[in-house]
Amino acid sequence: MKSVAILGSTGSIGTQAIEVACMHGLRVTALAANTNVDKLVEQAKRLRPQILCIADASRYPQLKEAAAGLGCRLLAGIEGLCEIAADDSTEILLNSVVGMVGLRPTLAAIAAKKPIALANKETLVAGGALVMDAAAKNGVPIYPVDSEHSAIFQCLQGNRRSQLKKIILTASGGPFFGKTRAELADITVEQALQHPNWSMGSKITIDSATLMNKGLEFIEARWLFDLTPDQIEIVVHRQSVLHSAVVYDDDSMIGQMGVPDMKIPIQYALLYPDRLPCPTKPLSLTDYGTLTFAKPDYDTFDCLTACIRASEMGGSAPCVANGANEAAVAAFLARKIPFLQIGKLVNAAIDALPVTELTCFEDVAAADAQARAFVAEHLHM
Ligand code: MG
Repeated sequence: MKSVAILGSTGSIGTQAIEVACMHGLRVTALAANTNVDKLVEQAKRLRPQILCIADASRYPQLKEAAAGLGCRLLAGIEGLCEIAADDSTEILLNSVVGMVGLRPTLAAIAAKKPIALANKETLVAGGALVMDAAAKNGVPIYPVDSEHSAIFQCLQGNRRSQLKKIILTASGGPFFGKTRAELADITVEQALQHPNWSMGSKITIDSATLMNKGLEFIEARWLFDLTPDQIEIVVHRQSVLHSAVVYDDDSMIGQMGVPDMKIPIQYALLYPDRLPCPTKPLSLTDYGTLTFAKPDYDTFDCLTACIRASEMGGSAPCVANGANEAAVAAFLARKIPFLQIGKLVNAAIDALPVTELTCFEDVAAADAQARAFVAEHLHM
């Protein structure tokens, strides 16, 4: 059986991936967490991986103590994540870390010719050109884990890519669908963390509330499927049952449906092209009865607009949008800025900072740092 290394193993995607791996007898050879040493070691006791890594290197002594006697190779920091990505024992890498920090491990896996199940969308938003060029050169497949991109990937199977007309990227609309900007002015952190359909980590839940998440996915889709901006139509679909669709030249629309459960796309990425029983509920269309579709409100949700603009600007602009958003979301979660300030800062950052070409990791890191510095300086603009 295949062996899988999981970066972000204690997060929402990571824990569900472990469930899928156990169900199908995949060997889990490496686990990496950001900060949660206790949960990481508990997973290690159960799964007996060869390697454990804590991304927050300041917690390495804690890991060393807690994992004593487990016989695992212990690593720390971004170097540890990259070492796992390229390790001989890794047959497929699941990258489900949150944020730009996932980019270097993705590049390390590609350099070592390891297939990637990619749940870290910021990797493609910030360094899309770099990642896709390197993956093509090394013949490394990237299997999308994001539910929408998995849906599109599934709908492309058995059809001619050259006859693809466009894609329909569905959006749940988040917890604030239908609200006006005036109603969003006083949204609290607690309100923004309540998502109607998906249970996820806090960063992506805020991104879903601002629709930044859909903007990031717009950019991610462009890179994964080599699309122009006008080939992507975003449709709000409140039930999160149609996970996305593709339209071919004959105007046939093919979609992928299922209950909103990440285990389906995680499993498809890990077991591709196999379709085996999944530990999830089957979809009953009659239980839902009605599925609805609407246009997004681009004026209210200006993070979405910012991402589409950044995507059209090209070069470093998407990386700037992502970096500004990561910094702004952290400030919102720390209760330093109001909810609507996130979109204001992301838009201001892409307008203020120069668009440059990103040809190496250092270029990406520099654009990202510039965006974060801009947000820090203009927090209360
Ligand atoms: Mg998604």
